[in-house]
Amino acid sequence: MNPHIIIIGGGISGLATAYYLQQQAQAKNLSLTYTLIEKQPTFGGKIITDTADGFVIEGGPDSFISQKPWARQLCQELGLQERLIGTNDEQRKTFILHKNRLQALPDGVMLIIPTRFMPFALSPLISPWGKLRMGLDLFIPSKSDDEDESLADFIRRRLGNEALEKIAEPLMAGIYVADPTTLSLQSTFPRFRQIEKKYGSLIKGMLAQQKATSKSTQPKLPLFMTLRGGLTELVTTLVSKLKGELLTNQTVTRLEYEPTASQPYQVQLANGQIYRANAVILATPAFVAADLLKPHHPALAEKLKNIRYLSTATVSLAFNKAEISHPLNGFGFVIPKKEDTRLMACTWVSTKFSHRAPTDQILLRVFIGGYSHEDLVDLPDDELLSVVKEELKKIMGITARPTRQRLYRWPNGNAQYDVGHLERVAEIASLVQETFPQLYLTGSAFLGVGLPDCIYQGQQTAEKVSQDFGPG
Ligand SMILES: Cc1cc2nc3c(=O)[nH]c(=O)nc-3n(C[C@H](O)[C@H](O)[C@H](O)COP(=O)(O)OP(=O)(O)OC[C@H]3O[C@@H](n4cnc5c(N)ncnc54)[C@H](O)[C@@H]3O)c2cc1C
Repeated sequence: MNPHIIIIGGGISGLATAYYLQQQAQAKNLSLTYTLIEKQPTFGGKIITDTADGFVIEGGPDSFISQKPWARQLCQELGLQERLIGTNDEQRKTFILHKNRLQALPDGVMLIIPTRFMPFALSPLISPWGKLRMGLDLFIPSKSDDEDESLADFIRRRLGNEALEKIAEPLMAGIYVADPTTLSLQSTFPRFRQIEKKYGSLIKGMLAQQKATSKSTQPKLPLFMTLRGGLTELVTTLVSKLKGELLTNQTVTRLEYEPTASQPYQVQLANGQIYRANAVILATPAFVAADLLKPHHPALAEKLKNIRYLSTATVSLAFNKAEISHPLNGFGFVIPKKEDTRLMACTWVSTKFSHRAPTDQILLRVFIGGYSHEDLVDLPDDELLSVVKEELKKIMGITARPTRQRLYRWPNGNAQYDVGHLERVAEIASLVQETFPQLYLTGSAFLGVGLPDCIYQGQQTAEKVSQDFGPG
């Protein structure tokens, strides 16, 4: 009998795993079958796009970083090359709320590291002492041990407290919705530590990299890319290529393991139906994997539960362009925790990307929740929308009525990579390997939350499965 694999969870991680499993099986001439089981009525997980009346509104991710090639490559492989669009980088500017005013992040600040002297020196965002302290990065020796540390400790150590509070914390919160004092440097920004070790200074390292990039003959890609009709284009195209059994609206409620059976795994659905399989791939959030594995291995379940999650929400608002006096001259703003506001960040979507709103409209997307105001995510819709509108009035002077509004909540939607995360993941992997042969864990809980990382992990998981079921 051909081996049968069950993939639980049809977000981008489960979908990518299924796709690459199919590719691997074909390339290696393996006869295996699979079933992909998703709880929601549609595939895609956090990827959800609402398109109507000329708007493209993303509820979850809106783009992926191009420097990590896996999402871009998958789009190309799927024939979506012509649909790829980049951010409008000629308008790239990020603002930071500082004392209730939006201040531009100085030109030449790469991630959080200043690489051009004049714009940085002239910026009112950082005090003269703060600038001097950031400059000390050129002289502070590298840390001698390789132990993980929090992003906050690292930034404070190299660039000082002001850089942390005014630049790093809000920018990084925008990506990981995380508290930098608990966020693991090794599992989120290992490159910073590599640069520190190689160059002894972040500023020197960034300048060296900038020089190398300017000499490169490779065409320069926009930093972030997406698909013209939104990221669900990736999901629908991916699903259309899958040849296995695809189930939606089905929740897996139990997982049984009988090592001596010819098909050792039994997967039970909420409707009572049972599927047997030779292997199971869990592409769900870690707490779901924990619940399914708890009856068999409480210690493993505990470790999975220790991967924390935070809740967030996104609110997209469209306005008549003629009614908005703000120039929207950038990609949006982020907000340090210290500022007295209830928002986390706001993307000026119709500036950041083309094809997102009709020409007489503008589109904004506000982020709420995360580590600073998680409680807001549970407010009733009307209260949450009122909070957003009040804050936008204070920050951007917007008083017009929105022509369209969309709210998406992501309860426990964002995995948190706390200090020691990589060790925790390695312990989980080794417990799984010891106890459950042919059980695989993949997805955003483990080795990267961004779409490219999820796709890469799916590729790696598919490769492992095909090796385990391959000839001899
Ligand atoms: C608001 C927001 C904005 C983001 N922005 C970006 C961005 O711009 N760029 C970027 O790269 N990343 C972004 N991310 C992160 C990225 O979207 C996620 O990390 C990624 O989509 C997670 O994919 P996944 O497949 O691992 O998990 P999920 O998408 O969570 O998929 C897991 C799936 O498992 C299913 N499931 C759960 N339990 C069961 C069960 N018992 N039985 C069957 N199925 C089950 C769920 O329904 C879900 O579909 C963002 C995330 C959020 C929340």
